[in-house]
Amino acid sequence: MAVQTVASTTDSVAESAAPSVDLGPAAALSCRECGHRVPLGPLFACEECFGPLEIAYDFSAYDTEELRRSIEAGPANIWRYAPLLPVPADVATKPNINPGWTQLVQADRLARELGVTGGLFVKDDSGNPTHSFKDRVVAQALEAARAFGFTTLSCSSTGNLAGAVGAAAARAGLRSCVFIPHDLEQGKVVMAAVYGGELVGIEGNYDDVNRFCSELIGDPAGEGWGFVNVNLRPYYAEGSKTLAYEICEQLGWRLPDQLVVPIASGSQLTKIDKGLQELIRLGLVEDRPYKIFGAQAEGCSPVSTAYKAGHDVVRPQKPKTIAKSLAIGNPADGPYVLDIARRTGGAVEDVTDEQVVEAIRLLARTEGIFAETAGGVTVGVTKKLIENGLLDPSLTTVVLNTGDGLKTLDAVADTGLTATIRPSLESFREAGLA
Ligand SMILES: *Cc1c(COP(=O)(O)O)cnc(C)c1O
Ligand SMILES: [Zn+2]
Repeated sequence: MAVQTVASTTDSVAESAAPSVDLGPAAALSCRECGHRVPLGPLFACEECFGPLEIAYDFSAYDTEELRRSIEAGPANIWRYAPLLPVPADVATKPNINPGWTQLVQADRLARELGVTGGLFVKDDSGNPTHSFKDRVVAQALEAARAFGFTTLSCSSTGNLAGAVGAAAARAGLRSCVFIPHDLEQGKVVMAAVYGGELVGIEGNYDDVNRFCSELIGDPAGEGWGFVNVNLRPYYAEGSKTLAYEICEQLGWRLPDQLVVPIASGSQLTKIDKGLQELIRLGLVEDRPYKIFGAQAEGCSPVSTAYKAGHDVVRPQKPKTIAKSLAIGNPADGPYVLDIARRTGGAVEDVTDEQVVEAIRLLARTEGIFAETAGGVTVGVTKKLIENGLLDPSLTTVVLNTGDGLKTLDAVADTGLTATIRPSLESFREAGLA
């Protein structure tokens, strides 16, 4: 594969070489730590310092008003932002599950309960094709996989990613083989298996699954495999920027004052910040301050623990929480999340499993949105941050719901019938329902 030779070229050669793949405005991979640049390829770690590689873009040709017009005239999915993503210009014509453009719900009833007066919105990503935000990131990885000639799409997953990869591979006609911890919720297992790819349970937690995948990439058995969140991670991660783009466009090309974002590996939070920064630099929104708050479950809270202790490094934890989609004990982007929370004046907070369930019910009761446990984490953390005085209720606030409650039914399994009656008015009255 061409990729190997590309990876070993020197900096200067890399910059002058003709691009071997067409991923639109993506110009190169660049190390987040030392800035070392290499050509686009299925690489994720810097050969100089082992820092994470990110996509570097060339946006220099864009005129702000033209770009805004072309976005607004684009399809009602993430491809309206194709000029800002590592995808070919004709991406919308290829078989893809076309996620995004999910509802930004003005949550007035939830706002009243929480005492928010500055405007509260829920970005409801349960509306994506496989009912979680993961469709956004997988859609980018799929384009990279096509560009690099991979024939199998794979991932290590806490559940939602497995479903998103299965669906995207099915639509694109690729083989998929995905790896999950063996003890996930039934909803997520079925959702991942139904698309017909191979689904492998690993005896261990997510961090064990991830380690196994890294080994497989280095082995001949993994040849031709694109692991969306490992060797395609720089591309995958860019999909989270579309959350930032959509939120701002849906607010009328305006930055929210505060965002509450869940943290698993921390990739989503980090790239939402990157997306907001791009909009500012491109002149699509006014440059003014915003705060990003991170949300974790107490039973897997390595980032909030580090935040509260004032640490720059994140100490790994062994996860034990019902918020399984966020149960990453050793989050790759943890230190960057700490940076962003501190730089923007946000915070990182956690809630107990009990508070997660309470928050799921609160959101459902007030707004008619049934969130998975990750949504319970963000809503619960929002409530706690207001009580702590860390989140200002007089400012515009966007809370992310990243998944669908139907995938984590166990969390609210004690919810059910109000009464069972005979089909008669008498029985209806007897039950006290009249
Ligand atoms: C994967 C996931 C996230 C965030 O994951 P990161 O690794 O932090 O990007 C959030 N919510 C849900 C429901 C997820 O599945
Ligand atoms: Zn580096």
